[in-house]
Amino acid sequence: MGCAVRLTLKFLSAASIALTLSVSAAAAAEVSYIKAGSLFDSRSGKVTRNAVIEIAGQKIVAVSGPDTVIPGDAEVIDLSESFVIPGLMDMHTHVIGHLDSYFFAGYFQSPHRATIGGVVNAEKTLMAGFTTIRNVGASDYADIALRNAINAGDIPGPRMAVSGPGLGITGGHCDRNSLNPSFEERSDGVADGPWAVREQIRKNIKYGADLTKFCATGGVFSKGTKVGMTQYTLEEMQAIVDESHTHERKVAAHAHGTEGIKRAIIAGVDSIEHASFLDEEAVQMGIDRDVYFALDIYNTEYTLERGAANGVPEENINKERAVGTRQRQSFTLAVEMGAKVVFATDSGVYPHGDNGKQFARAVRFGMTPAQAIQSATSVSADLLGWEDRVGEIAPGMYADIVAVDGNPLDDIAELEDVDFVMKGGVVYKSE
Ligand SMILES: [Zn+2]
Repeated sequence: MGCAVRLTLKFLSAASIALTLSVSAAAAAEVSYIKAGSLFDSRSGKVTRNAVIEIAGQKIVAVSGPDTVIPGDAEVIDLSESFVIPGLMDMHTHVIGHLDSYFFAGYFQSPHRATIGGVVNAEKTLMAGFTTIRNVGASDYADIALRNAINAGDIPGPRMAVSGPGLGITGGHCDRNSLNPSFEERSDGVADGPWAVREQIRKNIKYGADLTKFCATGGVFSKGTKVGMTQYTLEEMQAIVDESHTHERKVAAHAHGTEGIKRAIIAGVDSIEHASFLDEEAVQMGIDRDVYFALDIYNTEYTLERGAANGVPEENINKERAVGTRQRQSFTLAVEMGAKVVFATDSGVYPHGDNGKQFARAVRFGMTPAQAIQSATSVSADLLGWEDRVGEIAPGMYADIVAVDGNPLDDIAELEDVDFVMKGGVVYKSE
């Protein structure tokens, strides 16, 4: 805890320096240099030795070789013994939420408490090296408040692309179905019919959503839904996609079952979340239509190990058992067929800050270590449409930079414990 407090203070002092700079109007942005022993190029997958990264303010301005002349009075961050990669990106997180691991804790804590949980979880995620996340589904527009507070510099956290409430059918996976009818339990994003879904998307955008998330099939952690069963008609899915794309918002479809995956791809979504029951035809459809697959292949281990102790009902643990093995096979199939696979963990199902544990699974189930890092950097940036600002260490990009002592291309598990985190030119962690 003491460590976290120290880091927060460090962040605050950095933020106040940034403030002082902006107050002094046109003062030149502060310039610093990073000496990188090994530098990973997330576009080519290649490594350069002894590179120098020049940073001005929040952005990278140059990447050059060891002969670079560094001005004597410049600030130099020495990572010459480290392996340096772009800030990591997780395309499927749920950072808003209670801090209690008890499965039904949400029923006993207010939305405000869940938002405060989000503040804590966002910092843990950043400290784990994840400088950008896509948060897919949150009640009460808490995700938008959190994103805005981070962007304003009030609190430390990753850059966030957020969806607001996920859309879903009445009684489906994106609804809440545990209580008896007299409670009139209902999730924020429930909408049935083409015009109702359009209205919900317009509302989400009105309050600041960056993208749309909807549930195209049942899911593991909902009551009374079957993971293989499709939710929403094609007409409704097409309305969701059309309305979102009209407003230049991408669409993430939660889909486990094969038919639901295919229907969502036909409707024109941008990413398939979970993608548990893929077949060759579904993968090929995704490749042909430029769809990204976001498979969360770590959290099954956590759920099967800790779920019962956390109060997860038997119904849900059994569903996880049924999905887990097939989902890993689907991951292997998608990677082998050359589909675009992003790093996406479903954080919140397992403790926040453990996001990096999925890297070792990605390698075990078919990616090379370089591919695994690319999935969490350049490929994720492409999915967000943020390839002009994150996912790469290159001039013009935000200075979002992570480093580890060892070589993750030799041992990918290095990324479970990153040693250095910079976001937007500010150092948040340095060990
Ligand atoms: Zn999820």
